[in-house]
Amino acid sequence: MTDAATERLRMQDPRTQYPTPPFPKQPQAAPGLASKMDPQPDHGETSYKGYGRLAGRKALVTGADSGIGRAAAIAYAREGADVAIVYLPSEEADAKEVIALIEKEGRKALALPGDITDERFCTELVEKTVAAFGGLDILVNNAAKQTTQPDLADISTEQFDKTMKTNLYGMFWITKAALRFLPPGASIINTTSVQAYSPGEALVDYATTKAGIQAFTEALARQVIAKGIRVNAVAPGPFWTALQPSGGQTQEKVSKFGQEVPLGRPGQPVELSAVYVLLASQEGSYITGETYGATGGKSL
Ligand code: NAD
Ligand code: MG
Repeated sequence: MTDAATERLRMQDPRTQYPTPPFPKQPQAAPGLASKMDPQPDHGETSYKGYGRLAGRKALVTGADSGIGRAAAIAYAREGADVAIVYLPSEEADAKEVIALIEKEGRKALALPGDITDERFCTELVEKTVAAFGGLDILVNNAAKQTTQPDLADISTEQFDKTMKTNLYGMFWITKAALRFLPPGASIINTTSVQAYSPGEALVDYATTKAGIQAFTEALARQVIAKGIRVNAVAPGPFWTALQPSGGQTQEKVSKFGQEVPLGRPGQPVELSAVYVLLASQEGSYITGETYGATGGKSL
């Protein structure tokens, strides 16, 4: 095990395991880059160790250049999966780092830059993954748009539309395309949020999509277990990712990010790696139609 992996898994007080607020203000244009964040998030680059739980699997993760999706992609490669990653073209620098980490594990990586608000792109990215890897076993719908607007009057039709298209339509189109290929034993994981349960006053459009993802997950789980496919959601609380300083929160909230939850700090993406692995792997064989929370104690 690397020193960082040993240190991460050492028994310790979770409140002080990772950086605590205050954080510097750090505005970025959306979608933001992980490489520009201060402090740097831990996505498991040196701290996640795999145990072969996804040996030979073929995975597709959206929004995997940074944040929670990057943590899932790194963990999947370390557990033995080939991984295709979807991201916006402006995030190429972050994506290159993830591709290099996947390939370093001796796994295949596939870069899929593009915009999931485009139905044709959503269909093609699934087909390209199947062509490159010879199949698809794990789909993680994780890409999202979040733009804080304290006043409903300031949510433009354009913003509302883009949030719906990214967070709901993208998931719908990609899942629909993927279901043609997913075999029995496959797993679909959708990233929802504590916002589906306890919506914040400045995230009306975003929280609406997260509640929609919740319902989509439960309904689809009941439908596709008839094909042997499991569908679950992960509901994070505050996590230290580029989504937040790039317009997801005000800079005032970024500097205090995570202070409001019982743990008193934001989660680091690597703190969700094991959850995405559990739900993707055969370890999770009896888990479907569920939502796994990781909220720093705020609870769902
Ligand atoms: P992130 O910014 O690192 O990841 C989101 C990714 O979405 C981006 O990297 C980008 O590649 C992708 N994306 C956005 N619009 C896209 C588009 N039109 N086409 C293709 N890709 C697009 O932030 P994150 O926090 O890791 O977000 C991952 C998921 O976690 C999201 O679903 C988010 O809603 C959810 N989440 C985050 C938090 C948090 O506090 N960070 C809390 C709850 C839920
Ligand atoms: Mg990103």
